[in-house]
Amino acid sequence: MSAADRPLLEVEGLVKRFPIERGVFRRPAGWVRAVDGVSFEVRRGETLCLVGESGSGKTTLGRVILRLLEPTAGDVRLDGESILRAAGRRLRRLRRDMQVVFQDPYGSLNPRMTAGAAVAEGLVAAGVRSRREREERAAAMLRRVGLDPAGTLGRYPHELSGGQRQRVAIARALVLRPRFVVCDEPVSSLDLSVQAQILNLLLELKAQEGYTYLFITHDMSVVRHVADRVAVMYLGRIVEIGPAAEVLAAPHHPYTRALLEAAPATHPRDRGRRKPLEGEVPSPASPPPGCRFHTRCPLVMDRCRSEEPPAKPVGPGHVSWCFLEPPAAPVTAGTAGTSGTTRGTAREAR
Ligand code: SF4
Repeated sequence: MSAADRPLLEVEGLVKRFPIERGVFRRPAGWVRAVDGVSFEVRRGETLCLVGESGSGKTTLGRVILRLLEPTAGDVRLDGESILRAAGRRLRRLRRDMQVVFQDPYGSLNPRMTAGAAVAEGLVAAGVRSRREREERAAAMLRRVGLDPAGTLGRYPHELSGGQRQRVAIARALVLRPRFVVCDEPVSSLDLSVQAQILNLLLELKAQEGYTYLFITHDMSVVRHVADRVAVMYLGRIVEIGPAAEVLAAPHHPYTRALLEAAPATHPRDRGRRKPLEGEVPSPASPPPGCRFHTRCPLVMDRCRSEEPPAKPVGPGHVSWCFLEPPAAPVTAGTAGTSGTTRGTAREAR
């Protein structure tokens, strides 16, 4: 495989467990399996949406990928280079190539730092010595994210609106032109009216600069807006992954279907059909045996309670971890006799 064909990010068998400690001596009493053996790839220039309810492990997964948390096991490679084994100068270079936009810009921006200083901070760390160059690059980046540098550079976070703060946070993340960006619920703390503006800005920047995004969200309307591919996460594992158009139009896993049915309707015709997801996500300290979704699945079968479903290719590049058979595809002149059209890529997920 040539370097250009290789996925930009490869996540392999990633595990993150947190100890549960009890008593004054903080004796280990078990483990929370926040991320439990996850593998997938992110291709160059694509947006992969990682979607799931709160407690599914998606934010922990994002943080382990960025090495803000150390993993328990597994590997993460950026352009073939292991992030988890890197140290010193190599790690600093890889960190520059991987940036993050957090959910809450108010919490992620230093309240004592002006917008200009926040954006220029990364340039200092990257060794840009000239103050003038840093200021010029910070001003140009603020312009790129739709802010007027003259009115923004000297302002503190509390002097900006929520949407402006998130634009500053995006400018700060992108000023070093990273190769890979984790967007962790970047619009969920913003007013509805501002959310679409920020999503469109991220899409515009991606189209212009070719950024690769891992987009973490609980919101299916965000997935519809930005995703090229979708990975659905439940209780520390990926349960379905595939092209966004296919997963959204023909979800296979009952959990994906439940998430879609619980999402607010995008068409007036569908208002009132919304079906809230029932039950709670079980504790990741003691996940259910067999299929982890079996305690909430409306289609549960006996074997689901004891056997773990293997990866099942259910469409081109579309894989689901569920025992159910995919619905038979309608036979048309173009597809008759071409069983290869349902070839999946089981190796790219879990
Ligand atoms: Fe439901 Fe069984 Fe499929 Fe799990 S494997 S999602 S319990 S049908």
